[in-house]
Amino acid sequence: MSNVKNSNLGYPRIGENREWKKALEQFWADKIEKAEFLETMEELRLNHLEKQKEHGIDLIPVGDFSLYDHVLDTAAMFGLVPKRFEYNGGKVSLETYFEIARGAKNAVASEMTKWFNTNYHYIVPELNDAQPVLVENRPLSFYKEAKEKLSINGKPVILGPITFIKLSKGYKQEDFAAIVNQFVPLYEEVAKQLQEEGVEWLQIDEPILSTSITKEELALFKPVYTALTTAAPKLKFILQTYFEAIEQYEEVVSLPVQAIGLDFVHDEGQNLAALKEKGFPEDKVLFAGVVDGRNIWKASLGKISSLLEEIGHIVGKDRVVVQPSCSLLHVPVTAKNEQELEPVLKEAISFADEKLAEVAILAKGLQEGKAAIQNEVDNSEKAIAALAASSHRNNAEVQEAIQNISSYASERYAGFEERLALQEKVFNLPILPTTTIGSFPQTAEVRKNRLKWRKGELSNEEYGKFIEEETKKWIDIQEGLDIDVLVHGEFERTDMVEYFGEKLAGFQFTKFGWVQSYGSRCVKPPVIFGDVAFIEPMTVKETVYAQSLTKKPVKGMLTGPITILNWSFVRNDISRQQVVNQIALALRKEVKALEQSGIRMIQVDEPAIREGLPLKESKKEGYLSGAVYAFKLSVSCVKNETQIHTHMCYSDFKNIINSIDALDVDVISIETSRSHGELIEAFEVNEYKKGIGLGVYDIHSPRIPTLEEITRNIDRALKVLDSKLFWINPDCGLKTRGEYETVEALKVMVEAAKQTRAKLLVTEG
Ligand code: GLN
Ligand code: ZN
Repeated sequence: MSNVKNSNLGYPRIGENREWKKALEQFWADKIEKAEFLETMEELRLNHLEKQKEHGIDLIPVGDFSLYDHVLDTAAMFGLVPKRFEYNGGKVSLETYFEIARGAKNAVASEMTKWFNTNYHYIVPELNDAQPVLVENRPLSFYKEAKEKLSINGKPVILGPITFIKLSKGYKQEDFAAIVNQFVPLYEEVAKQLQEEGVEWLQIDEPILSTSITKEELALFKPVYTALTTAAPKLKFILQTYFEAIEQYEEVVSLPVQAIGLDFVHDEGQNLAALKEKGFPEDKVLFAGVVDGRNIWKASLGKISSLLEEIGHIVGKDRVVVQPSCSLLHVPVTAKNEQELEPVLKEAISFADEKLAEVAILAKGLQEGKAAIQNEVDNSEKAIAALAASSHRNNAEVQEAIQNISSYASERYAGFEERLALQEKVFNLPILPTTTIGSFPQTAEVRKNRLKWRKGELSNEEYGKFIEEETKKWIDIQEGLDIDVLVHGEFERTDMVEYFGEKLAGFQFTKFGWVQSYGSRCVKPPVIFGDVAFIEPMTVKETVYAQSLTKKPVKGMLTGPITILNWSFVRNDISRQQVVNQIALALRKEVKALEQSGIRMIQVDEPAIREGLPLKESKKEGYLSGAVYAFKLSVSCVKNETQIHTHMCYSDFKNIINSIDALDVDVISIETSRSHGELIEAFEVNEYKKGIGLGVYDIHSPRIPTLEEITRNIDRALKVLDSKLFWINPDCGLKTRGEYETVEALKVMVEAAKQTRAKLLVTEG
């Protein structure tokens, strides 16, 4: 009888109670010794391997565990340490490793960026003519550890050379092939040593195969993988892809490796279609990613076992290995402790551990037939059906609105110029008006009071009073600083998505649903599990109170639909566009409520708009137009006189500038400092003719900017942007800053604005 195996691609590092994060932070703060730190990490690592074994996983990944980030691990393994850090060759020390990630006294940290289309961020390797050397065979050490300590014959995991170089910087595109080839002998050495140690399978991740790669890049795969497999002919290579369908199916499956890993969850049916149409090479094994590794929903075991049967039919079931669609790094550890979730939701979710169990059951089903797992199939289908039938997913009003969505205006009544003329009359602002992005310092006191209130130690009344006092204090400060457009300060909010999620229908919050975002930073995304609906005004009270204290306009402050979507775990029974439209319609009611309460400027923040960009060029346009539509749906109900603002962070707007323009906001503020002038260049080529504020100082550092510095930034922006449309504001919200530095920095900012205004009035007469 055949023996269908199952596999896992990677396991969350953080631990059930974020032990990983805690150990890291204690070590960095010198609260624990290195030896204790390393011991804790080893314990966690081994415990994760044992857990995977207990859940019935056959091919358990080793080497996926990291002390910070797996891309940084790969760089360190090849001795790639940027010159500004201390390093004399050999194995990279723990201290240097963390310095690259976090910076040192005299050396800035390496840049970090998004790992494909996930919310995980990796450390960007800097090549800069470095001579790579294999200073440590990481997968080998972890393979040995698992074998010696737990008798587990692990499956080493390594980031493949082509993706690794593609994710690195510090070289010219024309040298790409040469640089990859420089690394090939090192990878060969890794593989040889693994083979000598008796490793059976090696998972080599090449997720760039799921992006729109060039012909030249694709052409590299054959020679590179021929070299690797020839160097270690007894080792079985799994060329692993994930996050999307592979574009060049035939070329990829015919590469000289022993197995191919494909994502059958996030491929929109394309991998399956290609498999059906073009078949699968008879000499290869297919690692089939069928359980969603990126979302938290329980697998539909009935549907997936049918899919596996279909795949097994084409490939031959003894050549199918069942696994998640990608590393489980992107989901929380275990759902077993989520006792406070509503049962209908709790029953319908699976975190990493539950997903492993699903993988094992599915493999059994493929081997023994669906009947052998009928019980589990029934249970999963029952849980999914119960959630589908629940009132949360059957909000008649929401569904009717979505049916009639085209009857909701998604354009403002008048065009920008006409609106601007009306708004100028209403607001009568000076040129180069000053404002801030929304939040003011969330001091220890603010957080302490919120915690007390959550615990019931402060009454709603007491807490509300405290928030009002803070708001009043900062309205007075802003008046004193002579800022033109004020904000209430967001003291009532912890997190810009959570705050709205807690007040809208359709969301729930887990207790332990943390995932790693970067380094030790973890996030706990809200769960959008039902129809999203407006219940009652969410921001009106605080905004109206702030406005009552001043004659200057106070901006209402909302988080936009796309950001709420992109920072949550999202239901998968309807399309993401439908979900974002629901959110937009709910926010639209808030926008209307603010306007009716006399708020004349409303800012709808969309810092995460870029994060949702699909990996494939061909899909980007569709995503962006859907995002623009949802945004406009949320704000296009206001009078022409009401001024709509938005804010975006994280540079690199070059290729989405048209979509930003299409949002048709009256004023946008964008973070600028981290883009090193690139954003300004973008405005040289693309005219932008609406209100815009490019952050004039960096809020990520406590340093107080100088007048010259801010003036220089303003002058530079005014070279490419119309001074009549330019706003002056910091880069981003100020909630992570201290009070003193905030006030001092804003003083300088206002002074710079005033001096520049005076200069302009002189030159323009
Ligand atoms: N209004 C928010 C704030 O100021 C914007 C935060 C963000 O851009 N991430 O905090
Ligand atoms: Zn921002």
